[in-house]
Amino acid sequence: MSTSQGVWLIRGARPLDGGPADIVIRDGLIDSIGDGPAPPGAQVLDAAGLIALPGLVDLHTHLREPGREDAETVASGTQAAALGGFTAVHAMANTDPVADTAGVVEQIWRLGRQAGHCDVHPVGAVTLGLGGTRLAELGAMAESAARVRVFSDDGRCVSDAVLMRRALEYVKAFDGVVAQHAQEPRLTDGAQLNEGEMSGRLGLTGWPAVAEEAVIARDCLLTAHVGSALHVCHVSTAGSVEIIRWAKSKGWRVSAEVTPHHLLLTDSLAAGYDPVYKVNPPLRTPADVAALREGLADGTIDCVATDHAPHPVEDKETEWDTAAFGMTGLETALRVVQEAMVDTGLLDWAGVADRMARRPARIGRVPGPERALATGLPASLTLYDPSARDTVDPRAHASRSRNSPFRGMKLPGRVVATFLRGTPTVLDGKLA
Ligand SMILES: [Zn+2]
Repeated sequence: MSTSQGVWLIRGARPLDGGPADIVIRDGLIDSIGDGPAPPGAQVLDAAGLIALPGLVDLHTHLREPGREDAETVASGTQAAALGGFTAVHAMANTDPVADTAGVVEQIWRLGRQAGHCDVHPVGAVTLGLGGTRLAELGAMAESAARVRVFSDDGRCVSDAVLMRRALEYVKAFDGVVAQHAQEPRLTDGAQLNEGEMSGRLGLTGWPAVAEEAVIARDCLLTAHVGSALHVCHVSTAGSVEIIRWAKSKGWRVSAEVTPHHLLLTDSLAAGYDPVYKVNPPLRTPADVAALREGLADGTIDCVATDHAPHPVEDKETEWDTAAFGMTGLETALRVVQEAMVDTGLLDWAGVADRMARRPARIGRVPGPERALATGLPASLTLYDPSARDTVDPRAHASRSRNSPFRGMKLPGRVVATFLRGTPTVLDGKLA
């Protein structure tokens, strides 16, 4: 292993809920955690007051390359990821061309390795061209250099029950998982905002909770029927949490994610018709937010995933009806989770490490050892200052796009440093 990364002494960080400790990094690995003397020649990073978390893993990122490099590239998106404390992202397949062949997923995987800011795990499309009619070559993508294990038509729902069943059956051969964007298309034709008091008041076509819940219920049953693994993308309603809780109680292999924005924001923000709050699935009600937080706290929802969805200004700053769905999120995710989950007492930092590193790595079949801070493991970690607080300014973000719904909000926390296998990708809050 290369020694060019050098030796680092991270002084006085708190590994999760433990007391302050010195972390020594050597040859890309965590050499020790304790309070020994500084190793000779070590670069020292004063981490007093900082929390040390395992490098975060995002199961749901849109990097937009190939095809929409005006919105994001693999390089800019992974820079944003590193600045947010992530050391691995799963890149969604709805690119142009769609990531539905071994060739495209290998291209994205290589771009990630060249950029070097974090690991990029391409997600393969379930159906050819996201067309929803024929299965893509899942096996070829699984056997490619990108070693795809997560398959999703995200952006669209695999609404055909027979296709969904076949995909679930197919991925069993290589322990894959189908990540479903649960949206019954007929129930959401033209839908713009959560169906309820707010959509009625604003005259926007409603997006009923049942459109999500019906697909999740069906897919849980299908997964149980074929004995496969289902992951539910961006859960947004209280009813969805109930269904997933029920499926898990049966012992079925169902996992789920929630986005930072669904943990903090509600549909009332749409009152000014600002499309920065337009997202799929839509922002819901305070009761849904409370249920999502509770579900994440009790483990019904396994993890936080950003659904980072960058869009250029011309696609986003238009009339509500014509604006693109989606929000950026990589650079604010951990801060939003602190605001919604930690500062509210629902989750401690060990819980955050579990929901943002350990569990998403497991669900995403990320190869290598467990995401944890322990001697001998790869030094992929994040140093985070929970006492910082400032106003979100998307113009300062590394993402090529500016569509953050948190702009202008005061949020706690600051990612101070990120290390990827011993090499700093972020130092002092800036790209290293
Ligand atoms: Zn989606």
